[in-house]
Amino acid sequence: MSESIYIHIPFCEHICHYCDFNKVFLENQPVEAYMDALIKEVERSKQAREQVPVKTIYIGGGTPTALTAVQLERLFVALHQLLNLKELIEFSVEVNPDSATTDRLNVMKRFGVNRLSLGVQTFSQPILTEIGRTHSPEGVNEAIQKARKSGFTNLSVDLMLGLPNQSVADFKESLEKALNLGVEHISAYMLKVEKQTVFYNRKKKGTLSLPPEEDDVAMYDLLTETTKAHGLYQYELSNFGKPGYESKHNLVYWNNRSYAGFGAGASGYEDRIRYQNSNPIQKYIDAINEKGNAKYRTHNVSTAEWLEEAVFLGLRKREGIHKKQFYNQYGYELDALFKEEIAIGTRRGLLENGIDYLSLTEEGLLLANEAFELFVASLDESVYS
Ligand code: SF4
Repeated sequence: MSESIYIHIPFCEHICHYCDFNKVFLENQPVEAYMDALIKEVERSKQAREQVPVKTIYIGGGTPTALTAVQLERLFVALHQLLNLKELIEFSVEVNPDSATTDRLNVMKRFGVNRLSLGVQTFSQPILTEIGRTHSPEGVNEAIQKARKSGFTNLSVDLMLGLPNQSVADFKESLEKALNLGVEHISAYMLKVEKQTVFYNRKKKGTLSLPPEEDDVAMYDLLTETTKAHGLYQYELSNFGKPGYESKHNLVYWNNRSYAGFGAGASGYEDRIRYQNSNPIQKYIDAINEKGNAKYRTHNVSTAEWLEEAVFLGLRKREGIHKKQFYNQYGYELDALFKEEIAIGTRRGLLENGIDYLSLTEEGLLLANEAFELFVASLDESVYS
């Protein structure tokens, strides 16, 4: 059983033009029936989880703050009743600046939420409009002020790079505005134009004006330099925090540890089995009501996959993979296991193979996927099955 829990709230009050996440437009959705099913799903696992104290909870979406304060309170009451939260270290909720109302913030604070992740993306109003976000730059400032007033001392802001019509100067301004607000953590992601999004259709029609590649690189360089100058250190490819403010929950993923997933479409990874819950919402609700669980896709992770995943997830961390910890966690010597791949990655300038750590080089940070690909399906399944 896992010490980490992910809970999915799939509702959104608007649909952003780049978003291919698991979400639905809030209007006319069976929100109460969904909450019933979600609580029932957690309840079903109560007995098995009772003895395992939960260390991290992450409520993501969609938009968790699309729920009302009353609905949030109902969820939090249930989590406190059904899970062993005596040793809870981090309780994160994703927050949309538009819906960061004082009543919602106060409920979160009252039930032990201690980290908020705000979906800001940019402080440029024209770009916010272009990407389909409904909040304003001023709305972000207000949301942060309200969160501070409600007592939150661990705030993270999500930003995006490589957005349509975004110049390097635009990104610099957004980044500096976020940092000047004194947030403890920044996550910054490069736009990927995914299928089934407004941007994908516009790209096909040739009406999406994306920055040139050299601007993307300049934005990433700016990101690493500016965050460092403000006392936030890069601890993962896209994540920057003040010391002690790294996302403990997300580190569970990058350390290849297990976590439980609850909610429509949520993924989990327990006992070396990766699974996904049913989606869409009605299918999830029906599955919970009929069978008590909604797992519809499960995959037994072979030893070869387990070891390979450990490497490409671990390399996402700026410090890389601690070789001794790797041995303790997996029972294999990293250097011996991936001798050839490490040699190729080092020769290509993507990997730095130190005495204690294997990590990405500066160049490897920009070409991380190329480095990760070296390890995919690299082990012989018949030997490490
Ligand atoms: S980016 Fe977030 S708020 Fe926008 S549609 Fe996707 S899940 Fe909803």
